Amino acid sequence: MKKLTLKFGGTSVGTIEQIRKVANIVKKRHDDGNQIIVIVSAMAGATNKLMSNSKSISKNFDSKELDVLISSGEQVSSSLLSGALIDLGIKARSWQGWQIPILTDDNYNSSKILNIKTDEILKFISDRGVAVISGFQGISEKSRITTLGRGGSDLSAVAIAKFFETDACEIYTDVEGILTTDPNIDKNAKKIDKISYEEMLEMASLGAKVMQPSAVQASMIDNIPIHVRSTFLEKSGTKIISESEIDHKKVVTGIAYSKNNAKVSIIGVIDKPGVAADVFEPIGKNNVNIDMVIQNTSLDGKTANITFTIKQGDLNKTLSIIEKNKNKINYNKITHNDKLAKVSIIGAGMIASPGVTYKMFRSLANENINILAISTSEIKISVLIQEELTQKAVKILHKTFELN
Ligand code: ASP
Ligand code: MG
Repeated sequence: MKKLTLKFGGTSVGTIEQIRKVANIVKKRHDDGNQIIVIVSAMAGATNKLMSNSKSISKNFDSKELDVLISSGEQVSSSLLSGALIDLGIKARSWQGWQIPILTDDNYNSSKILNIKTDEILKFISDRGVAVISGFQGISEKSRITTLGRGGSDLSAVAIAKFFETDACEIYTDVEGILTTDPNIDKNAKKIDKISYEEMLEMASLGAKVMQPSAVQASMIDNIPIHVRSTFLEKSGTKIISESEIDHKKVVTGIAYSKNNAKVSIIGVIDKPGVAADVFEPIGKNNVNIDMVIQNTSLDGKTANITFTIKQGDLNKTLSIIEKNKNKINYNKITHNDKLAKVSIIGAGMIASPGVTYKMFRSLANENINILAISTSEIKISVLIQEELTQKAVKILHKTFELN
């Protein structure tokens, strides 16, 4: 007998039909003699609809009230699934985050889980009950409802697996597993059997949408293996596990991309200590995330150019922050470009294989794709390119690194 955490995403519980199907999957696992805790997302599209309702009320909708609102989608799906299980003759019950409670900090809209009380649910599942927990939700020490960031029911699942010490954490979703790239961009995309936490974290952060990056990070920190698998097909899925359990046959494991990037260049800033800090401090304090950064010194050695990338949606805000701080950040001029994409190759195998960088750049050059900025870590190389070249770049890299 095993104790299992099973998480079902929004499309898996997207319709009544689908919820019945999920109930049957859960029943089967339960009939096998396992103790089961289920985590559900809201029905597909529900959270987006709630978000847009809040925006119709106010552009600056109160963040605490937003959490009350957007956490409600999960209440609907957890009760529907519990009802469907009861209908199949299984003892089942839903729990909302505040009922357990799942205690979080009070960083509304992207809270961190601090603690989860386990006794009541442990008793329930050891008496053959199936516990159905609303993902995404928490409650702060001030007894206010919180949420864990978009896609946060993945994080709920990892935390439940941790606090309840379950034997497995399975993420049921609408794809076969983690794929080498987005199949909508390149139909040669293949399922990956095993991927390390580190690689998965890069993939998720760099644009692969299957799992929430914070959830991957949490699983990495606590070494909670994750099994990503399909709700619709009975297939083997992808195991996200520790690096030491994988032997890398390929240099590159996957290709990720993100669109809607913008680039800002500040030309002619004085080249002296503290300037980069003066540029990025006000931007950071205004909650704009800086991604890539490049600084090049000009030939006279007196001035430098600082280029950085941000999300397109933050461009206007960023430009006005720089403008407001103009007396502090002396510069000649600013240029910007807002239709850019970041394409990344990811693979722990590249640590041990020289020549990956040039291979990537050469194959992009052969397709006439101009690289606007580069950033690297031990296990990834990202390039910034024109957004309309995204598909071309992903396809050639997928082929170059033998993922086809
Ligand atoms: N329903 C939430 C969202 O759409 C959480 C989740 O689906 O993981 O972001
Ligand atoms: Mg999700």
